[in-house]
Amino acid sequence: MTSPFDLTGKVALVTGANTGIGQGIAVALAAAGADIAAAGRSAPVETQKAIEALGRRFVSIQADFGSTEPVARVVEEAVVALGGIDILVNNAGIIRRADSINFSEDDWDAVMNTNLKTVFFLTQAVAKVMLASGGGKVINIASLLSFQGGIRVPSYTASKSGLAGLTKILANEWAAKGINVNAIAPGYFETSNTEALRADQARNKSILERIPAGRWGQPGDIGGAAVFLASSASDYVHGVTLPVDGGWLAR
Ligand code: NAP
Repeated sequence: MTSPFDLTGKVALVTGANTGIGQGIAVALAAAGADIAAAGRSAPVETQKAIEALGRRFVSIQADFGSTEPVARVVEEAVVALGGIDILVNNAGIIRRADSINFSEDDWDAVMNTNLKTVFFLTQAVAKVMLASGGGKVINIASLLSFQGGIRVPSYTASKSGLAGLTKILANEWAAKGINVNAIAPGYFETSNTEALRADQARNKSILERIPAGRWGQPGDIGGAAVFLASSASDYVHGVTLPVDGGWLAR
């Protein structure tokens, strides 16, 4: 019997797969059988090596998601190179930290454009491909700040709370059409996104004290949830934001 988690023959488009959480997810999807199109602004050299070593097809697509400009081209390049898109992982994202009282319009727009606006229009473009081929799986990379307020990150919190809402509305519209739209909310993961937090000893200590698992997440901790949401094992799961947070939200 085939495993319900098997992704053999599926094509996944993963944004920001050169490093961190996106890399962890791309490698996990490939290990479950998927071919990978990695779209982003830095060359995904390590990711390519890891995925080709697993015997999967891999294509790298250069794109800056700070605007919607590359969206149509990215989708076309992925479809031409790998024959379709069955799974979309909206992972590329940025964070800007400053007190809300002084927060700049630039820091607002940069984060909202990358984390929310481009995600919506990329998803819209990929959904057209999925609808034409009978369905697919969309996985948005949300955050604990899809549930909580955070501090000194107003545009990030707005974007990730917005992304949880977007996950629900798209699930409402597309669930009956064969597309599952869900999100993963990573807790505190050791990536470049959280370098500043880990460098601040007091902040690092208080974060660790609150995580029931007692450690930061590693990129390899996120892959299982992504494989689940990308596979037929989750066919009746729609519109959820699944925390992978070492228990943070339970505390
Ligand atoms: P990361 O190591 O900084 O990775 C961010 C990824 O997004 C990189 O591949 C980056 O490319 C890409 N990216 C950023 N802006 C881009 C743009 N304009 N165009 C194309 N690619 C762009 O951080 P990470 O922690 O793995 O973050 C991945 C996702 O997880 C983000 O959405 C983040 O908000 C979310 N997240 C992270 C944590 C955590 O604890 N680390 C927690 C919750 C949610 P470059 O390498 O070229 O910059």
